[in-house]
Amino acid sequence: MTRILIVEDEQAIREMIGFALKKDGLQFEEVGDAEQALVAIASNPPDLLLLDWMLPGMSGVELARRLRREETTVDIPIILLTARAGESDRVHGLEVGADDYITKPFSPRELIARVHAVLRRTQTTSDESPIRFDGLSLDPVGHRVEMDGEALSLAPTEFRLLQFFMNNPDRVYSRERLLDYVWGRGVFVEERTVDVHIRRLRKALTQRGYDRFIQTVRGAGYRFSARD
Ligand code: CA
Repeated sequence: MTRILIVEDEQAIREMIGFALKKDGLQFEEVGDAEQALVAIASNPPDLLLLDWMLPGMSGVELARRLRREETTVDIPIILLTARAGESDRVHGLEVGADDYITKPFSPRELIARVHAVLRRTQTTSDESPIRFDGLSLDPVGHRVEMDGEALSLAPTEFRLLQFFMNNPDRVYSRERLLDYVWGRGVFVEERTVDVHIRRLRKALTQRGYDRFIQTVRGAGYRFSARD
């Protein structure tokens, strides 16, 4: 059973979200600030976090950053709820580790669509064998990535992106195609979002030099290749 944690200080919005989730048959818990969220996550990690950006005390962005730093919480999918519609703010939200964002005000329908889109792309499918290129290996079932035998923590979207690339090496994909494959069709995400996640993925792979596998093909998109 999928469990969602709502972190939102405005009661009216919390209730609206709770109502929409319940109507859709999704289980949820709700808290009003980041400190309570940390306690709730430690005792029972949720399958998805709906996280308000502006919270009293620790902000939603700071909480997202903290969760991404910890081994035990790095792979919890996060949708950031934000009243800020500026492009740079949105990109900033994704850079701290959110998998998606929703700009307030939003409709229950949009919320549910995005929740399902994120869950779809972050929940793993079974009976797939590990994929390996050089010292980089990805285990789709165990949801683990290793670089030269060392575990690498990746946020859910970066994991999905890397998994897609490793399953489809040596082919160029446009941002649009990557959005379709990795994020799912019918979800409105700006193409720039792809660049943000590519940047984060490359950064994670840099330590062992495997960022060289993620190649930019000017004017066309991106390609994963372990060939020189
Ligand atoms: Ca708020």
